[in-house]
Amino acid sequence: RAKQKGRNAWECFTSDINDEVSARMALRNDLQEAIEAENFELHYQPLLDAHSGDVVGVEALVRWKHPVKGYLSPGLFIPLAEDTGQIGPISEWVLRQACRDMCRLAAEGYGQYRVSVNLSPLQFRRPNFLSNLQQALLETGLAPEYLELELTEGILMADSAAAVETLHRLRDMGVEVSIDDFGTGFSSLSYLKQLPIGKIKIDRSFVRDIATSRHDGAIVQGIISMAHHLGLAVVAEGIEDAEQRDFLAAHGCDVFQGFFFARPMPLQKLRAYLGQPTVTSEGDALPASRFS
Ligand code: C2E
Ligand code: MG
Ligand code: MG
Ligand code: MG
Repeated sequence: RAKQKGRNAWECFTSDINDEVSARMALRNDLQEAIEAENFELHYQPLLDAHSGDVVGVEALVRWKHPVKGYLSPGLFIPLAEDTGQIGPISEWVLRQACRDMCRLAAEGYGQYRVSVNLSPLQFRRPNFLSNLQQALLETGLAPEYLELELTEGILMADSAAAVETLHRLRDMGVEVSIDDFGTGFSSLSYLKQLPIGKIKIDRSFVRDIATSRHDGAIVQGIISMAHHLGLAVVAEGIEDAEQRDFLAAHGCDVFQGFFFARPMPLQKLRAYLGQPTVTSEGDALPASRFS
């Protein structure tokens, strides 16, 4: 009987694994088709100057336009793409599309905005990363100072000598670099000090409880003051209410990002949000309402 039970458990176990494996394989095949058909879309979330409320840039966030499931968020397919190597072509597409969209906005008279693009660790470590980047800027016509790359702490810790070298080259090119999700990795003051980067983005998890948790409030306060002493600008992501905004403003945060101000939106909605006179505003995205 025990034998019988054991076998059932094993069969159960293997069939679970098989289900998971085939689900991943299906997703991977779907993703391959999406890459070939370029079934992705970039949504842009505005970044606002904490003092003036002006839009100082936008973050590009990729979505997969799945034929059946609709828009899929990056959390559902970027990790898989990193495992399968499909992240390469996706990143290439994201980078070029973001550059093209910013050039298009400028040509249409909406203004020239800096776009932040999230970088996967694998991309950053590729030997031809810098030449690919240069190529994308040349092809699309975006000036390097209008591109910002968001890296996570993990990228920099893993292979620090090579990473620091790449960062210097980016700075020489005029491309801005920020550290994303700051505070969730092994942030140490000493490593930040030696990096040629421009800003850090405080992770949403600290911002969330900023007004209610004395600890998170203190951590954020500490991060901001440390960053400023090192000459870095501070972005806070994930701001969802006025209390969070007020706390961050009171402690000198430089740039705001979050649903409280604007959600990530397709390019067409961004046009309306930026509110040029040639465009009819959609009402829910009037620039005048950002800071009231
Ligand atoms: P991230 O770079 O930290 O991007 C911020 C995420 O927080 C976005 O989620 C954004 O929609 C969300 N967010 C912004 N404000 C708020 C807020 O007020 N409240 C809440 N609850 N969420 C907010 P999204 O678009 O789902 O992206 C998730 C992650 O996927 C990104 O985190 C980034 O790490 C990754 N990702 C997105 N696009 C790309 C890409 O093109 N390439 C790579 N390698 N990774 C990407
Ligand atoms: Mg980011
Ligand atoms: Mg972030
Ligand atoms: Mg984050």
